[in-house]
Amino acid sequence: METSLHIYNTLTRKKEEFKPLNDPFVGLYVCGPTVYSNVHLGNCRTFISFDLVNRYLRYLGYKVRYVRNITDAGHLENDSDEGEDKISKKARVEQLEPMQIVQTYTIDFHDKMRDFNTLAPDIEPTATGHIVEQIDIIKTILDNGLAYESNGSIYFDVKKYAETDNYGELSGRNIDELFSGTRDLDGQDEKRNATDFALWKKASPSHIMRWNSPWGIGFPGWHLECSVMSTKYLGEQFDIHGGGMDLKFPHHECEIAQNKAANGKHAVQYWMHANMLTFEGKKMSKSLDNSILPDELFTGNHKLLNKGYDPMVVRFFMLQAHYASTLDFSNEALEAAEKGFQRLMAGMSIVDALPVSESSDIETSAFRQKIEAAMNDDFNSPMVISHLFEVVKNINSIAEGRMKISDSEKEALSVFLKQIVFDVLGLKMAQESSNNDFMDGLMNIILDVRTRARANKDWGTSDAIRDQLAAMNIVVKDSKDGASWQVQ
Ligand code: AMP
Ligand code: ZN
Repeated sequence: METSLHIYNTLTRKKEEFKPLNDPFVGLYVCGPTVYSNVHLGNCRTFISFDLVNRYLRYLGYKVRYVRNITDAGHLENDSDEGEDKISKKARVEQLEPMQIVQTYTIDFHDKMRDFNTLAPDIEPTATGHIVEQIDIIKTILDNGLAYESNGSIYFDVKKYAETDNYGELSGRNIDELFSGTRDLDGQDEKRNATDFALWKKASPSHIMRWNSPWGIGFPGWHLECSVMSTKYLGEQFDIHGGGMDLKFPHHECEIAQNKAANGKHAVQYWMHANMLTFEGKKMSKSLDNSILPDELFTGNHKLLNKGYDPMVVRFFMLQAHYASTLDFSNEALEAAEKGFQRLMAGMSIVDALPVSESSDIETSAFRQKIEAAMNDDFNSPMVISHLFEVVKNINSIAEGRMKISDSEKEALSVFLKQIVFDVLGLKMAQESSNNDFMDGLMNIILDVRTRARANKDWGTSDAIRDQLAAMNIVVKDSKDGASWQVQ
């Protein structure tokens, strides 16, 4: 049983005991979204995975500074150094300002993060808000001889860096293979080597997002913002850096190289990578046209879905897989998650009403130990959930009189379950159903008043109620069985 937190470090490829650099403070940096489209469910999985990390660190008593950036410039198509900026392209196609695109999809991202009950980051910096700092770090890397200027752009000199450092240490890519595999690419002639990556790109006349720099008008390379913003808000060395598995290369590999080239230090103590949400075995992604948007899942309005699901059911579905394993999306898996979630919530909702006895057959502290051990083992949420089902089984046995619980244990169990299920797993009672129950109750009262008005031939009141509801898009239908209502 792990009594202290252990994290699988994707750099060392080992599970390591977590020792913060500056206990009890913990710096946590997670790469945020590029805000050029709605976040899909795959993106959400990664952010929910790190929400679990953030929440558990806080549960353990650490003072976490959680930084998650917004990429609002510099991320080019196909994650490469050529092609159009994803945001500029969308702005051009939709004939909008790039910052309108950024605003629209940042709001969407925040809405979805709230739907999934994730805690907001403490700091949410943007790439465009840190152009000055990005120019500064480029100057330092140039001064250190690890970058060069070419036709108004600045490239990181991977070959030079690899003479003294290990480019590929995170992703496990072999530097010789990288060089031989990419040498003959066309259109890369600005670079000394095809593996070199842009720190600063000269803006073509049609490139909308552009800033002044010592090297002319241009824009920063995508990898640079995360080096700069993590250093600015968490220091040259900090504890945990996370992102999706697909960011290991090139994004995080380049980030490591930039930091080392600027200050000689490996910034990150624990690299964590969340695994992908897949559909029929393929990574869910916009470009593969197999992505599902959270709203489509909540409403069931998608060709792949049988029905809609509450955001908490979806979160529960995600937590049933370990963050480092792939998770395949399917209707069946979601239906099973819905049943499991309801069973858990039903169990929780009867704890406070359980009958008490003198003695107790269950010990909350034993469950706490098991559940903490699971979380300490690299945030093993599926194991936590299986322990919670064991707790629910016990709760049901107590309710049916087959087991006993004392008053003090009942109190402890109630507090403990709320801490684990609400605070750590970030679940809450399903919103949609409780809202529906509330709405149903309210409408019953209103329609009852209207029915009585009609029985008294008070047509004025009856019509006023109908018209006022209609103004709120609620349509009342009268039939011989009584009145019914519908939101239009
Ligand atoms: P992007 O906006 O494309 O930079 O992606 C935002 C985050 O979502 C990154 O951390 C990606 O690694 C992650 N991501 C993208 N697709 C998936 C997926 N199918 N499953 C899990 N995470 C994903
Ligand atoms: Zn990043």
